[in-house]
Order: sequence, then structure tokens, then C-alpha cells
Amino acid sequence: MNIYPQNQYIPYTYLIGWSKLDRWYYGAEYGSKSKIANPNNLWNTYFTSSKHVKEFREKYGEPDIIEIRKTFIDEEAVRIWEHKVLKRMNIPKDERWLNKSDGSWNSLNSEERSRISKERMADPEIKARMIKAQKETMNTPEYKLKKSLKSKEMWQNPEHRKKIKQINKKPETIELKSKAQKEAQNRPDVKAKNSKQLKEKWSNTEFKEQRLILQKEILSRPEVKAKISKSSKELWLDPSYRLRNLESRKNAPVFYCECCKRFIKGLSNWKSHLRSNKHKKNLIGVP
Ligand SMILES: [Zn+2]
Repeated sequence: MNIYPQNQYIPYTYLIGWSKLDRWYYGAEYGSKSKIANPNNLWNTYFTSSKHVKEFREKYGEPDIIEIRKTFIDEEAVRIWEHKVLKRMNIPKDERWLNKSDGSWNSLNSEERSRISKERMADPEIKARMIKAQKETMNTPEYKLKKSLKSKEMWQNPEHRKKIKQINKKPETIELKSKAQKEAQNRPDVKAKNSKQLKEKWSNTEFKEQRLILQKEILSRPEVKAKISKSSKELWLDPSYRLRNLESRKNAPVFYCECCKRFIKGLSNWKSHLRSNKHKKNLIGVP
């Protein structure tokens, strides 16, 4: 006889007992994600989340007391009630009870905590809310100050310094960092910021002049020249490079210089022609 409507979210508290052994368990079902809490589940599809109960069942068989104690409208209400009952009856400290915690977050072991966290994070709405809250906390001046003070304090510790240095040297750390960097560089806001900064720099004539002088100076260095010539020779030995180069030349635009009366193939060749002394001479000679 089911007095509770099926397939409806009805969180509830329950009591399980092995009366002849005088062992008890008081708990609550309130999940709504992977399994919807409903009193009809108790000892049909739901057998508590306690591993102590699981062990006890395996050893001594099924309980003879299976009782729904109270139903609630939401998770918060049932959790508060469960916590209150466990605390008031001092259940976690009583050896006749299989409950090892009072249901509060602090009393849970790491396994139970991670299970609850996972359940919560499975809900996209809760996840988004938690990430937002975390970001907001991390953006407060107090948090930043605390974090910076903490890391400064920790940096004073030679052991900690050594550990961090070792971690940073690990290939997986380096890989992770470069991956994060690449990802950051691809973010639209970062891209926009970088390009804006670069544009600002290059719009500064002094910066531009200095950079061009530096570039020219670097390119005129014998070792740089040798390197470029060597690498282009090496490249030219690669048949696929040669093929690509020839193909791109085939499609290169052809320019005609009116002053010099000659055809020039390729944009870069055309540009260097315009800069050349030969062309400049002819330019002066044009009426
Ligand atoms: Zn010309």
C-alpha cells in the first residue's frame, strides 16, 4: 500500500533498525539529480548512502524496522531537520546507532563530502552559481591581500621554495602552463587587449623608429645573415618547400614599373624594387 504519490520529489527522513541487535540508523533521502527522493524508494531502490549501513546489512541481513519518519518540501528543510534530530539525540556518539556523523558539513568525511559536491556540481545552475561566487570572492581586495601575504610568508620557507621549483620544472607543469598561456592568448578579450597595446606602441613614432633601427641592426649582423642564408639554403633543399615556393610564385601578381619599363613578379620583389636605387634614379629621370 503506497500512500505517497510516485515519481514526485518528496524528501524525507527515515529510521532503519535491527531491533533484536539494538542497532539503528536515522537518515534522510533528498537527492533530486540522479535519483528523485521519494518515500517509496526506501528499501526498494534506496538503501541509505551510509557505508556503515551497507557493511552491517552484508553481515547481519535486512533490518526489521523500516520507517518513514517525516516528509518535507525541499532539501534544505530535510537537512536541517536531520541535523537537529541527530544532534539532539546525540546519535553519532551513541554506539547503538550506525550514524557516524551528525549530517553537518564539518562532520562528514572526505568521501561523503566529495560525493555531495559532485552531486551539487552536476546541476548546471548550482555549478554556475558556485563558480560565480568563487570568482567574486577571488576579486575582493581582502582576498587578494590575504593570498599575497600568505604566498609571501610561504616563500620564506626554504622547503616550500624547493618544492615549488621542483613542481615548476616538471614537464607536465610546463606543458600545462604553456597550454593555459596559449588558451589565454586565444581569448577574444586578451587578443583585443594585446592588439590594442601593440597598435598604441607602433603609433608612437619614437618607438617605431627605434624598433626599425634595431631590426635593421640585427639583420645586418654577420652571424644573423649567415644564419638566415643557411636556413634558407636548408629550406631550399626540402623538395616540398621548393614545390610550395614555386607554386606560390606561379600565382604571384606581376607588376609593371613605368619608370624602369620592366615587369616584376611578386609583391615583395615589387616593394624592394620601389626601394631600390636603380628605380629611384629612373624616378628622378621621369619628366
Ligand atoms: Zn622602377
